[in-house]
Amino acid sequence: MKTRQNLAIGMFLVMGVSFMVLSLNGCTKETTAVPASADSQYKEDILNYTIADTSLTGCLSCVDSLPFESLNASESEALIVMREEEFLAHDVYLTLSQLYTKPIFRNITLSEQRHTDAVKALINKYSLVDPAANHVTGVFTNQDLQTLFNSLVTLGSGSLLNGLVAGATIEDLDIKDLKDHLLTIDNQDITCVFNNLMRGSRNHLRSFYANIKFTGGTYTPQYLTQEDFDAIVNSKHETGTGNCHCN
Ligand code: MN
Ligand code: MN
Repeated sequence: MKTRQNLAIGMFLVMGVSFMVLSLNGCTKETTAVPASADSQYKEDILNYTIADTSLTGCLSCVDSLPFESLNASESEALIVMREEEFLAHDVYLTLSQLYTKPIFRNITLSEQRHTDAVKALINKYSLVDPAANHVTGVFTNQDLQTLFNSLVTLGSGSLLNGLVAGATIEDLDIKDLKDHLLTIDNQDITCVFNNLMRGSRNHLRSFYANIKFTGGTYTPQYLTQEDFDAIVNSKHETGTGNCHCN
C-alpha cells in the first residue's frame, strides 16, 4: 500500500513537474516570440536613437501652406528665443558627440538642425531679424542661452553619464518652454511647428532617460512637473507620418 501510495505520489510529482516544465516552456515561447524581439529592437532604437525623425522636414511646406497671420508680441519673442534654443540643443550635442561615441548625440544633433531650420522658416515668413543669421557653434545672442550652453557643456564633458543628464536637462527645458509659449500663440503655422518640436523633444527625452537608466544613473525633472515627466518617459516613442501634423 505504502509503495503504491509513494508511487502514486511520485507519478503525481513527475507529472506535476512535467506539466510545470511544459507550462514554463509554453510561457517562455509565448513571451520570447514576436513581442520580445520587437521590444529588444525598440530598446536598441531608443538607446541609440536610430529612429528616423523626419516629421520636421514636412514642417517647411506646412509653414508655406498655412495662412500668414499677424504676430503678437509673445509670438515674435517665442520665435526669436526658440530659434537659438534649438541651436543650443544642437551645439551641446554636437560638442558631446566629439567626446563620446554613443550614437544618440550624433543622431539627435541632426534632429536639432531640422528643429532650428523649421523656426528659421517662420522667422523668414514673418520677416523677423534672425538672431542666429551667422550662427557660430556655441555662440548665442541670448545671454541666458549662452550661460546655459557653457554650463551644460561643462557638465556634459565630465562623463558619459553627465553628458546624458545634460541631454535630458535640455529636453526637459525645451518641452516646458514650448508648452509655455503655446499658451500665448494662436497662429496656425507657429502652433504646428511648435507642437512638432515638442513631439521631437519628448522622443529625445525618452531616449536620454533610457540611456541614463541603462548607464546606472537617475534624472529628476528640473523644469517639467514629475507627473508630466513620468507621463512622457513611461510612454512609447511617437512616430510622425513624415508630414507635419498641422492641427
Ligand atoms: Mn529640438
Ligand atoms: Mn531635442
